[in-house]
Amino acid sequence: MLSVTNVSKEYASPNGSLRILSDVNLKLETGSAISVMGPSGSGKSTLLYILGGLEAPTTGSVSLNGRDIYQLKDDDLAAFRRDSVGFVFQDHCLLPQCTVLENVLIPTLVGKSDPDVGDRARSLLEAVGLGPRLNHRPGELSGGEKQRCAIARALIHKPGLLLCDEPTGNLDRTTAVGVADLLLDLQKDTILVVVTHSVELGKRFPQRFEMDNQTLHPV
Ligand code: ADP
Ligand code: MG
Repeated sequence: MLSVTNVSKEYASPNGSLRILSDVNLKLETGSAISVMGPSGSGKSTLLYILGGLEAPTTGSVSLNGRDIYQLKDDDLAAFRRDSVGFVFQDHCLLPQCTVLENVLIPTLVGKSDPDVGDRARSLLEAVGLGPRLNHRPGELSGGEKQRCAIARALIHKPGLLLCDEPTGNLDRTTAVGVADLLLDLQKDTILVVVTHSVELGKRFPQRFEMDNQTLHPV
């Protein structure tokens, strides 16, 4: 269960503090999949960073399975990000010099990992349709394939929370539908939060929210 309680976020600016989020509340069980839409600059990415342990809220709390993540010590918060959160960005953020398989294994280079992590990486890549591309480098993949690789990488640690920021923003429509199908297939084992500008993608989610006036509204 992900619980977001009374979260607000302000950034310091030369003219005083700038409020980005106010009073955001959200409760999601494992198996939930939500989309978040809203205008550019409305705070969608900021909210994802707060959910994923990357940016502390100014007030309020975020807890995953009963653990209040911003009460954790730095090392424990880093471990939480590594083990419990998968991130997929608009730009796939793959390392160009590494193969597809190596890119998926990058999150396992830090800290302890299961000895069978190589097998898991291969089976994830199989599941996202990249079985025949394990030794390709990102430059040899299409846009949709790169994003599938980024999704496999985000799943390597079986995250309780999968956060996607405009995951289909750089893809053509057909490829975007394929990536959306893949994400929606994954929801049963995780909590899936997808920020998107695409009305078509947003509508496919069982629960939909809009960021408006600094807070989340169910649609
Ligand atoms: P969205 O993803 O909805 O387009 P963002 O969450 O990226 O919006 O940004 C929301 C607002 O917060 C923007 O006005 C942006 O300028 C501001 N902002 C984001 N990050 C920072 C930061 N690190 N410092 C100051 N302002 C920021
Ligand atoms: Mg954004």
